[in-house]
Amino acid sequence: MIRCQPAPPPEPWSSSFRFVSEPTSVENLIIIGGACAGYTAAIYAARAELAPLVIEGFQWGGQLQNTTDVENFPGFPEGIMGPELMIRLRAQAERFGSRFITDDATAVELGDGTIQTVAVGGEQYRARAVILAMGAEPKTIGVPGEVELGGRGVSTCGVCDGAFFKGEKVLVVGGGDSAMEDSIFVSKFASELAIVHRRDEFRASKIMFDRARETANITLKTPFAPERFIAGSDGKLALARLRNTETGQVEELEVGGAFIAIGHTPGSELVQGQIDLHDNGYVKVREPSTATNLGGVFAVGDLVDHSYRQAITAAGSGCRGALDAEWYLRDSAPAID
Ligand code: NAP
Repeated sequence: MIRCQPAPPPEPWSSSFRFVSEPTSVENLIIIGGACAGYTAAIYAARAELAPLVIEGFQWGGQLQNTTDVENFPGFPEGIMGPELMIRLRAQAERFGSRFITDDATAVELGDGTIQTVAVGGEQYRARAVILAMGAEPKTIGVPGEVELGGRGVSTCGVCDGAFFKGEKVLVVGGGDSAMEDSIFVSKFASELAIVHRRDEFRASKIMFDRARETANITLKTPFAPERFIAGSDGKLALARLRNTETGQVEELEVGGAFIAIGHTPGSELVQGQIDLHDNGYVKVREPSTATNLGGVFAVGDLVDHSYRQAITAAGSGCRGALDAEWYLRDSAPAID
């Protein structure tokens, strides 16, 4: 995994700065999260001369940091490697004056229209507005080979990686809408696709389940759960060992691809109890804006989106967040004491 160098010290405030007339330790805008949404927010905010402070996380880059070819991000007809895309987004944000802290935000103190506080370990940072862009993590099943064969056959994003499995036998793990959606998409490329689910009942919506079940090259493999993913001599996924969850019987399935589609966990732990969340942990925003229930606190990207979850939708959401924050700072942000 690529790590970035510590950022240089912040530049002094520019004399042409629009929102703050005096140098102050209160930032205009802190962005928490360094991936598609956070960096795009930083690009827009920096170009609006807000000099955003991006607390990008120690493992900045988000899900694309673990992705190889990205073929569906507009502007890259030949595709681009996930980490390279992140480096470019980050550099673009830096070019216009974003500053970075390459560490994790460890605590926040958020208020409604107040000065907001973000802690990184022992350091505290204050700002008139905050954009939350902490993303979401795909859930994993935690079996041997799952992590080791990531990018070499095992994937957590069918829509991103399905096209790499043309003519191959693949499986999709899960029984919800994510699994159905990934299956329907990946079945366009795969020769055969098995949906492996640990129960005979599916929690997917009827329409999605029926669509998957009626697809000619999709079969249902229940009640089975993967026990191990095994590489072939070329180091890529070759076999999935499955266990029948009722009888304990073990089977091996020859597959070139395995998609884990058992849901995502939003990175909202940091703000839990301080802002309104949906039951599933995603941050509530006033669509189509990125405003949360607290004035001056905006949320973008996969942290709010449990439907689309694409790099480009996260980037678009980051753009909206930066514009919302800019308008808030112009019209109604608290004065600095
Ligand atoms: P979900 O509904 O929570 O389904 C997760 C599935 O993964 C369940 O079937 C669960 O099995 C299985 N699972 C969980 N942990 C597992 C493990 N360790 N090993 C094996 N299987 C495991 O998650 P989702 O499918 O991501 O959907 C989340 C929400 O987003 C839902 O509201 C859904 O409708 C929505 N969504 C909508 C669309 C769409 O409309 N296009 C697309 C995607 C998602 P059990 O059933 O046995 O618990």
